[in-house]
Amino acid sequence: MSALPTASRAAVLRKFKEPLAIEEVPIPAEIEPGAALVRIEACSICGTDVHLWQGSLSLKVNLPVIIGHEMVGRVMTVGSGVDRDSVGNELRVGNRILYTHTACGKCYFCTTARKPTLCDNRRAYMYENMERYPYLLGGFSEYGYVMPDAGRIRVPDGVSSELASLSSCALRSVMNALSQVGAIEPSDVVVIQGAGPLGLLAAANVRVRGACKVIVIGSPASRLQLAAEFGADLCIPVDTTTPAERLEQVLAVTSGRGADIVMEFTGVPAAFTEGLQLARKGGRYLVVGQLGEGKFEFQPSLIVKKNLTIFGSFSGDARSYSLALEFINAQQHNFPFEKMITGRYKLDDVNVAMERMKNFQEIKPVILV
Ligand SMILES: [Zn+2]
Ligand SMILES: [Zn+2]
Repeated sequence: MSALPTASRAAVLRKFKEPLAIEEVPIPAEIEPGAALVRIEACSICGTDVHLWQGSLSLKVNLPVIIGHEMVGRVMTVGSGVDRDSVGNELRVGNRILYTHTACGKCYFCTTARKPTLCDNRRAYMYENMERYPYLLGGFSEYGYVMPDAGRIRVPDGVSSELASLSSCALRSVMNALSQVGAIEPSDVVVIQGAGPLGLLAAANVRVRGACKVIVIGSPASRLQLAAEFGADLCIPVDTTTPAERLEQVLAVTSGRGADIVMEFTGVPAAFTEGLQLARKGGRYLVVGQLGEGKFEFQPSLIVKKNLTIFGSFSGDARSYSLALEFINAQQHNFPFEKMITGRYKLDDVNVAMERMKNFQEIKPVILV
């Protein structure tokens, strides 16, 4: 512990919509049993970071906070009892890890319901006041604190910190969602709504899982070009077509039936109504992107008459992080994941990166701390 500094530079949000300030934040002198202190190597930026910054999240934020939640850290110090990661790999000082929001493992949702992301005692990074111990609960920081109940997964040596960072939120959410939707048959046509990071990663996943046809609906054109590189057979621009035209295109390639599986990664409430139309009778609809307060009218009888199965999926647990790292490790030469990393910034330039993310000029910028 003696070699460690006593403070960490970190990007702090004190007031919504105001620029982040780089401040000196204390490094906790005490590391609790089961906890760890990491030197953060990379932390990519997510739409959620922008929403939190703008004060538009429906979750409670205890200002001031350190923003960032997609961090990869190198273990510097561990509390007592830390010798394995969450899936049984040996874990030592010097290893790189991804770490998760917490799940207590002792509540109804962790155990009986087997949905640890819905844990009653969940604590999440970047939502807690950074003036209180253990201070370092956000990713845009030199150092980070891994809470005792946080899952932690060792990053395979062959996966760069940038790609691990990408796996920590976008890809783990996709892995969790796909685990819920069930098997994809070789005859399945899958429609993916959204060509952002989640949509692109879902396209690659669905391709690997053997879907017969992958259709991505999104914008702009450059994203759709990328979607083709991530496994889409057909890309439909959302900005130059009407919902009726898009439905027609999907029906045209599914013998008039509609898609076997539709997946929503847009966050746009109107997309839900469209998804119900795009799914075939007896189809499955996976809804992942809807996190805001927006509303949109839809016709509930469609769910009954088409006998649809609708899944919601929130965030991802330690298992999903592990699957995400396995996926990226195995597939990193088959898909151009590095093209999703559109900008690399120093901690001091975090406001430039956040501003560009807000203006949709980036897919996944990363802060290299
Ligand atoms: Zn995220
Ligand atoms: Zn719990």
